[in-house]
Amino acid sequence: MTHRREFLQMTTASLFGLSLLPKRRSFKLTISNPIKPLVISTWDFGLQANAAAWEILNNGGRALDAVEAGVRVPEADPNIQTIGLGGLPDRDGHVTLDACIMDEHGNAGSVACLEHIVHAISVARKVMEKTPHVMLAGEGALQFALSQGFQKQNLLTPASEKAWKEWLKKADYHPVINIENQLAPATPNTMPGNSFNHDTIGMLAIDQQGNLSGACSTSGLAFKMHGRVGDSPIVGAGLFVDNEVGAATATGVGEANMRICGTHTVVELMRQGYDPEQACRLALERLVNKDPDYARSIQLAFLAVRKDGTIGAYALQKGFRYAVYTPDVPNELRESKSFY
Ligand code: ASP
Repeated sequence: MTHRREFLQMTTASLFGLSLLPKRRSFKLTISNPIKPLVISTWDFGLQANAAAWEILNNGGRALDAVEAGVRVPEADPNIQTIGLGGLPDRDGHVTLDACIMDEHGNAGSVACLEHIVHAISVARKVMEKTPHVMLAGEGALQFALSQGFQKQNLLTPASEKAWKEWLKKADYHPVINIENQLAPATPNTMPGNSFNHDTIGMLAIDQQGNLSGACSTSGLAFKMHGRVGDSPIVGAGLFVDNEVGAATATGVGEANMRICGTHTVVELMRQGYDPEQACRLALERLVNKDPDYARSIQLAFLAVRKDGTIGAYALQKGFRYAVYTPDVPNELRESKSFY
């Protein structure tokens, strides 16, 4: 309880327009031996994506170009049913894509619920570079993509159509987690909902100049409600880049992530001095503390890199893997620690 005296002091301070907040301390990270270039990305498909990004980084290219090129790899792969071409559709049979990109200047572009265009990440980049906006959604995003020369194509592959038709037999729409549990039963290597019916490619890179960029792209939750948008196109949820501090990306149930503005939280925790792994854990802890039963029943994972090239990750459930490519680590998969 605030004592009367403290309250009076507060009131006096407010009256005189004095800020009660501590003075802003600027972030100073001593970087003695930065790791660069570097690229990290979510899940096993991150290996191929990293390889494409590395080509650019190793030749002195910009991190922004690297993350776009990297993310385009799983977007174009029809066998990956959670991203781009071949993504599992919503419950009405539409493949709808979410993507976001951020550069070293803090510029951002994103698309939500975009249909018929394979490379949602490249449309997001065009939104960032060619419009006064940050996000375009649905029909407007498609119109814009077509105006920029992107080709319209059917993203629903026979395999994804078959999976959708199978789902339609019951069409049992429950809150998200139930759907995931039905469709992605745990195996010795995966947790429910971990790998089959939703997963985002999230990629973060540091170029030889030491600049950071990030990108992420997904078809979102399989058999979601038409019009559902996840965390991936939301700046500060699916992706956040601050060239002064570091960057973070997310994968897992977007609804959970949006409730804690996850990647912005991770970057701000790094600004406060936490290392990337601690920052990822602390961000997830907000959800764990607020809603432990929910947190226990879903997957959500963060992947982060600090400006000096220190990497960290944390997940709610076991089984979250990410791919790392640095001058000393030639593209390997690592598994993150988890709460449960
Ligand atoms: N975060 C994505 C979404 O909610 C899905 C995922 O990464 O698993 O749309």
